[in-house]
Amino acid sequence: MRSARVMNLNMLETIPWRTITHYGLHFIAPLLLAFFFRKDRRVKAYLIMLATMVVDADHLLADPIFDPNRMSIGFHPLHSYFAIAVYVIMCFLPYEKLHWPWWLRAVGVGLVFHMLTDWQDYVLWL
Ligand SMILES: [Zn+2]
Repeated sequence: MRSARVMNLNMLETIPWRTITHYGLHFIAPLLLAFFFRKDRRVKAYLIMLATMVVDADHLLADPIFDPNRMSIGFHPLHSYFAIAVYVIMCFLPYEKLHWPWWLRAVGVGLVFHMLTDWQDYVLWL
């Protein structure tokens, strides 16, 4: 009885929680955030937020391209603090007044949550 319980706990440790959390946030956070958009725009907003993952293309400039022990934030050009400031501003611009397309806000929101996901991946797990 007791050894079965110990074995179950060991099995829990083999589950790659960090990876599950990382990709869960990349795919599920945009799904939840899409509900803050107008009903007729939610699907498009979700897809746009998913598409903001292309921001990771800046990893191609780094060597090695992927390093699980490296903090992306402040390292890659599109993950720089300046870039993040731009993404935050994009979340709050008055698009209707400016007559700019609404989906730019979805791009901004997607990018800010991408940065939060990358940040927690380093700060909370290493
Ligand atoms: Zn990233």
